[in-house]
Amino acid sequence: MRTLVMKFGGTSVGMTTGLTQLLSIVMYEYERWDRLILVVSALEGVTDALLEAARLAQLANRRGYRRIVATLRTRHLALIEHLPLGVNERIALQADIDRLLFDMLDTCQALSDRPEKTSRQEAVDAIIGVGERLSARIVAALLRQNDLRSVAIDGTEILITDSIHGNATPNFALTRERINTLLSPMLERRIVPVVTGFIASTTAGKQTTLGRGGSDLTASVMAVCTDASEVWIWTDVDGLMSADPRDTDQARVVTQLSYSEAAELAYFGARLLHTRMIAPLQERRIPLRVRNIFKPQSIGTLVSDFVESVPALKAVTLINGLGMACAQTGGIGRLIATVDDAMFEVGGAHTDVIFSSQSSWQSFLAFVVPTSAGLDGLHSLELALDARAAQDEFLAKWAARPVTILTIVGTRVNELHTLIAEIIASLAGIRLLALSQSPSNCSFSLVIDTGDAEDALERVHQVIVVPQGGRSTR
Ligand code: ADP
Ligand code: ASP
Ligand code: MG
Repeated sequence: MRTLVMKFGGTSVGMTTGLTQLLSIVMYEYERWDRLILVVSALEGVTDALLEAARLAQLANRRGYRRIVATLRTRHLALIEHLPLGVNERIALQADIDRLLFDMLDTCQALSDRPEKTSRQEAVDAIIGVGERLSARIVAALLRQNDLRSVAIDGTEILITDSIHGNATPNFALTRERINTLLSPMLERRIVPVVTGFIASTTAGKQTTLGRGGSDLTASVMAVCTDASEVWIWTDVDGLMSADPRDTDQARVVTQLSYSEAAELAYFGARLLHTRMIAPLQERRIPLRVRNIFKPQSIGTLVSDFVESVPALKAVTLINGLGMACAQTGGIGRLIATVDDAMFEVGGAHTDVIFSSQSSWQSFLAFVVPTSAGLDGLHSLELALDARAAQDEFLAKWAARPVTILTIVGTRVNELHTLIAEIIASLAGIRLLALSQSPSNCSFSLVIDTGDAEDALERVHQVIVVPQGGRSTR
C-alpha cells in the first residue's frame, strides 16, 4: 500500500493560479498512488492577519479585529468567486466561510472580555487556526468539483498534542489511533482527505497550534501515522536552496540532502521547513521532497538517508536572536532559566540557547526566540528582560543586544578546514562574537551583529556556492 502525503503551503493555496496547479498535481498523482493525503496551510498572509486580530482582541480593540475579519471574508469570497465551482459547492462554501468567521468573531469578543490566562491561550489558538479551516474547505470543494471524492478534515479531530499553546508537540501514539479510526476508512475508499495543517487539539479537546510554519509538521505526523512512502512539500521556490532566495539572487537549488543536513537547515532558520518536522521522518526513513508548485516538472530537493561521499558545504542560513554578555564567568545556568522564564511569560514559548561560551573573565550566550512567539517575539523578550533587570541585580549585570546567527550547513564540516578558513577570511572587517561547530558535524555557526548579517551572508555564500550548488573539498 503506497501512501503519499502532499503539503501545500500558503504560497500555493493563496491564489487561483496556485489552486489550478494544485488541482492538476492531485489529479495526476491520484492515479499513481494507492492513497493520497493532502495537508494545507492558510492562504498566504492570513495567519499573520489572524495573529494581529488576536492581539487587537486582547487590547479590546473591537473595531480593529472586526476590520480584519471583514477583510478576510472579502478575500476568501473573492477567491472562490474566481474558482470553477458549481452553484451548490459555492453556496455551501460561502456559508462555511461565514460560519467559521462568525465563530471566530465570538472568540475575539470573549478574548477581549479578558478571561484567565489559560483560556486566553486557547482562544488565541482558536483564532489563529481559522485560516487553515477555511483553506481546507476551499481545496476539498475544488477537488470534488473535479470528480475526486474529497473531504476537509480539521486537524483538531485527528492530531493530538500536549497543551503548550502556540507551539504544541504531537503525541504520535494518540494521533495514530485517531487516524486509524477517522482517516483510514476514507483512505480505503479512495477519498482524498484535505487536512488542515498547523492546528491540533489536546486530549481534552482544547485547540492548539504547532508553531509558525506548523503545516509542515502536520505533514510529517500524517506521514508517520499512516506509514506513508513519501512526503512532498509544494511551495513557491525550486527546492531547498543554498540560501534564502529572498536574501541573495545567487541562491541555487540543493538537489539532495541528508536528514541531518535538512534538520540543521530547518533549525537554524530556513523558513521553508518547520524546525521539528525532520526528526519523525528520519526515524521512519520516510523520504521528503520539496518542489515548486509552479514548476512541477523540475525535480526539487530530495531529503533522505543519502550519504554524501565527500565532505561538502551546501547552504547558509540566518536567524535573529539575542546575545547576552557579562563581564564575569558563571551564572549561565541561572541566566538561561531566567531568560526562558521571561520568554514564556511574554510569548508562551521557550527560547533555544544556541551558543554559550565562557572565558576566564567573560561569559556570552546567544538565544533564539521561536517564531511561534510572534513577529515581535524578540522585541517583547528584550522589553521583558529590561523590566526584570531593573529589579534583579543578577540580570542587571548582563548586557543584551540583538544578534544574528549565521550557519553554514553541510556534511563532515569538521574535515573542511580550508573552506572554513576561507569563510572566516571572507568575513574580514565583520566582528565575530562567537563561533561553534555542531556536534553532528553538519553545521558551523557564527554569531554576528544583526547590522552585518546581509553583507556576511553574501560573502559566505560566494565562498560555498559553485555552479553545481554545494562545494566540497580536501
Ligand atoms: P509555504 O507557504 O509554502 O509554507 P514559506 O513561506 O513557509 O512557504 O516558505 C517558503 C519560503 O522559504 C521561500 O519563499 C523562501 O523565501 C524561504 N526560504 C528560506 N530559506 C530557504 C532556503 N534555504 N531554501 C529555499 N527557500 C528558503
Ligand atoms: N499558516 C501557518 C503559518 O503561517 C502554518 C503554515 O503556514 O505552515 O505559520
Ligand atoms: Mg511554511
